[in-house]
Amino acid sequence: MIQDVFCKIINGELKTDKVYEDKDFIVIKDINPQAPVHLLLIPVKHYFDIHAVINEDSSLFGKAMAVADKVAHDAGLSEKGYRLIINEGEHGGKLVPHLHIHILGGKRLGPKIVK
Ligand code: AMP
Repeated sequence: MIQDVFCKIINGELKTDKVYEDKDFIVIKDINPQAPVHLLLIPVKHYFDIHAVINEDSSLFGKAMAVADKVAHDAGLSEKGYRLIINEGEHGGKLVPHLHIHILGGKRLGPKIVK
């Protein structure tokens, strides 16, 4: 069984600052925030990447957007806006091998062009 850091959080082996949970997702505060609000939207089921979700249950992304909309609203981000990011693979800068969506906001974020 794959045991990445997010699986350990979901299994209760690691403590976290959780702001939302349902049967499909948890949303936690990123341990190394890159903005005043930096949340991670994480499927409870282990999916390695976007490809795995599309192959197994593509409807999960619709549900994920509904959760992002809700937690962004609850975090006070709806009016000024926010950014969603998925890092994929080596070039995308992915560190944790468990699909997750970054929700960033609380200030005007930097330019959208990559470095
Ligand atoms: P990524 O580069 O998209 O894989 O980003 C992984 C993110 O997970 C980083 O922003 C980390 O700061 C965050 N992270 C790693 N471990 C933890 C943890 N135990 N609790 C909360 N966030 C974490």
